[in-house]
Amino acid sequence: MAGLSLVNVKKSYPDGFQAVKDFNLDIQDKEFLILVGPSGCGKSTTLRMIAGLEDISDGEFWIDDQIMNMVEPKNRDLSMVFQNYALYPNMTVFDNMAFSLKVRKMSKEEISERVHEAARILEIEHLLDRRPHALSGGQKQRVAIGSAIVRKPKAFLMDEPLSNLDAKLRSQMRVELSKLHKQLGTTIIYVTHDQVEAMTLGTRIVVMKDGVIQQVAPPHEIYDNPKNKFVAGFIGSPSMNFMNATVMTEDGRVFLKMAGQKMSVSRQTAAKLVDGEYAVKSEQGIHEGKHVILGIRPEDLRESGDEDSKVEVSVQVREMLGAETLIYGLCDGQTVSAKMKPDCSFCVGDHVNLYINKENMKIFDMETEENILYKE
Ligand code: ATP
Repeated sequence: MAGLSLVNVKKSYPDGFQAVKDFNLDIQDKEFLILVGPSGCGKSTTLRMIAGLEDISDGEFWIDDQIMNMVEPKNRDLSMVFQNYALYPNMTVFDNMAFSLKVRKMSKEEISERVHEAARILEIEHLLDRRPHALSGGQKQRVAIGSAIVRKPKAFLMDEPLSNLDAKLRSQMRVELSKLHKQLGTTIIYVTHDQVEAMTLGTRIVVMKDGVIQQVAPPHEIYDNPKNKFVAGFIGSPSMNFMNATVMTEDGRVFLKMAGQKMSVSRQTAAKLVDGEYAVKSEQGIHEGKHVILGIRPEDLRESGDEDSKVEVSVQVREMLGAETLIYGLCDGQTVSAKMKPDCSFCVGDHVNLYINKENMKIFDMETEENILYKE
């Protein structure tokens, strides 16, 4: 079992492009760590540097107390599972899973024991004599994972392993992977662009953008306490709503002016806005403060609430999803989405009042896009 550390790791490709910029992270033993971010943000490059498939341009990668920068991939004791299953078509499932052990000249008995153990865990014992062409996508992916398990590596590296599966199978395999992680008790580093996978599988999530870590935290914290507008908008479906607002003070009290509304804020929020110089600290008169961006999750736009949190939304699309109804509309010229109860009566064309749940509202600086209410 192992702890992995990346210290000031950078990756520049020969054409000068910097895919990963100053990546620092300690990965604890037994973590299920997710690297997530939009296409091109550098998550696969980071994983490939850990695997040794890509040189590290600058910085250090450690496993326990050994620096790994120059260690060959095969000597790193890490197993990689890719998106395309990379099975040998002419070999049976057993031989596919046994292959890396045979290369290591392990005894026949040990190989058989390990393959059967992995097959039992993955519930593919009945498939051991089949060849890959006779397997479904999900079964192929299990074999690929089995080939990684048999090696009993220090950590598993997985690059979008479920992205070739259909939605239903993907959600089944998500559950399987979660169980597997608990059963094996091994560190997993997992790359995905799918925020649902990130939220459901990860013990910690690393959100990346343009080669830079934006935030590292457990899923619930990423969701409830995002560091900036990017993280807030990337995690959550439908995405967080963003609305422009102006901070103002009237006779010493702080308000947010937006969509024809003058919304009071809690004492803690007011204190943060005053401390951050978004609001003018004055007991007398009306003062216009700075422009900010409000972040409101779709489930925080409700059918009832405080009168001063009311906004008018013209409904453009209504999606009935069974357990909930999604409403998409326009509010003060800005697109918003709201997650309502399944029996919600709003129809396309309606002008409806929705109420912002102020307790969960985020406020972002207009320029830096940092979360002004971020709790350290
Ligand atoms: P995706 O989800 O699309 O796989 P990613 O976050 O995994 O994206 P990477 O594959 O790590 O992204 O690539 C990061 C950036 O590095 C991208 O902009 C990519 O174009 C660039 N890149 C990757 N390989 C090379 C290369 N050999 N030469 C130059 N640039 C490269």
